[in-house]
Amino acid sequence: MNYTELSKEVSYDNFFKDDGRDIYDFQNKFLVKCKICGNCATIIAIPKYEGSYFVYKERRFLCTGCGKIEIKSVMNGIGSKYPLWLETNCCGHKLWVYNLEHLNYIESFVRANIRENYYDERIGWKNQSLASRLPKWMKKSSNREAILRSIGILKRRI
Ligand SMILES: [Zn+2]
Repeated sequence: MNYTELSKEVSYDNFFKDDGRDIYDFQNKFLVKCKICGNCATIIAIPKYEGSYFVYKERRFLCTGCGKIEIKSVMNGIGSKYPLWLETNCCGHKLWVYNLEHLNYIESFVRANIRENYYDERIGWKNQSLASRLPKWMKKSSNREAILRSIGILKRRI
């Protein structure tokens, strides 16, 4: 394939550029299943400005289905005590995400057939990013259609 042919193949839809975000960058909001009413609830990390940076000192659970509110400094058990709302079986594995932004990120990765790694000016090639840490089954092109179908199912739950 020459450059002209290649550039025709490359479009916004099938190109993924790793921006270096890691899994923690998606942990500001979690969609979880409320154990009381079974509806979708949210756990939000509340940012607090301290000196020159933000810290997350509190997490707030809020269910609009039953009105339950919980505020804690640490909210352990996300995924177990608070099952993720956006989780499904896919290709013999579990496909799970914390929130819509996380789901869109995974979708753009899976959809892409050209993926550019993240390069940091200070430390070079970075392998802490979420994209570089995704499991092999998510990176296989033979799983692409099945994963995109599962992503579609999860999107309809929101
Ligand atoms: Zn509820």
